[in-house]
Amino acid sequence: VSTTRGAQRREQPAPPAPAPLAVPVLDSHVHLDIVGSDGAGWSPAEQIAAARVAGVDRLVQVGVDLRSSAWSAALDLPEVVSTVALHPNEAPRLADLDAALTQIATLATHPRVRAIGETGLDYFRTGPDGVKAQEHSFRAHIEIAKRTGKALVIHDRDAHADILRVLDDAGAPACVVLHCFSGDAGFARECVERGYILSFAGTVTFKNAPHLREAAALTPLSQILVETDAPYLTPMPYRGAPNASYLIPLTVRAVAAARGVDVDTLCHAISDNGERIFGPW
Ligand SMILES: [Zn+2]
Ligand SMILES: [Zn+2]
Repeated sequence: VSTTRGAQRREQPAPPAPAPLAVPVLDSHVHLDIVGSDGAGWSPAEQIAAARVAGVDRLVQVGVDLRSSAWSAALDLPEVVSTVALHPNEAPRLADLDAALTQIATLATHPRVRAIGETGLDYFRTGPDGVKAQEHSFRAHIEIAKRTGKALVIHDRDAHADILRVLDDAGAPACVVLHCFSGDAGFARECVERGYILSFAGTVTFKNAPHLREAAALTPLSQILVETDAPYLTPMPYRGAPNASYLIPLTVRAVAAARGVDVDTLCHAISDNGERIFGPW
């Protein structure tokens, strides 16, 4: 989630299905419940069916608050594994943050829950008042990830330096994913050196984002993922239209072009990385 949560208005029709990928991949970050909440009645089953046709046969459903995390943990579909967390924009809003974190820790033990996230820092939506609560929440999620041995999925908006500071200080879990990677080549290098996974979203296709293509170009194949963050961040040429997992091929092809690698090779790498980090489905 990069914008405020809630239903996104459909001002444009859903984009047509792209040519399917020959080698299936996963969507490493999707909000099936939010895609389905805009009144169009696009159910998880329908989103999954459309994704499968496009060559996207596995999805990671991401929780952002107690309600969506409980929903995600309970979701029992063979194509979907889940994550649970309090989003950094959610943490400062809670009257009893520690009680909510305790509930996240309980949900985190569910076998269909494969990662803790999205957590992190968001200095775009939250002012100085909320930053303390965000960091407290972020540190608590890091501990849950370490205790459960699950991956940590990070939301980082305008907070690159502090994300690294907190991870370095607290000690990072074995597997860290930077969802919707938004840094430049320099930040990408710092993340790659630490062994973190960089997950690229539709933003990598945006004309005004050459820094993301530079970041993708230097990310080793063993540390790369792709995601939609649907319903947000629809790839070009459909920016502003509703997003869903079936549009992943557009992002995969943009990353392959940026890296100068053929699409099938990239898909094999993404698929293997997904199974190593979240799997098996
Ligand atoms: Zn998200
Ligand atoms: Zn996010």
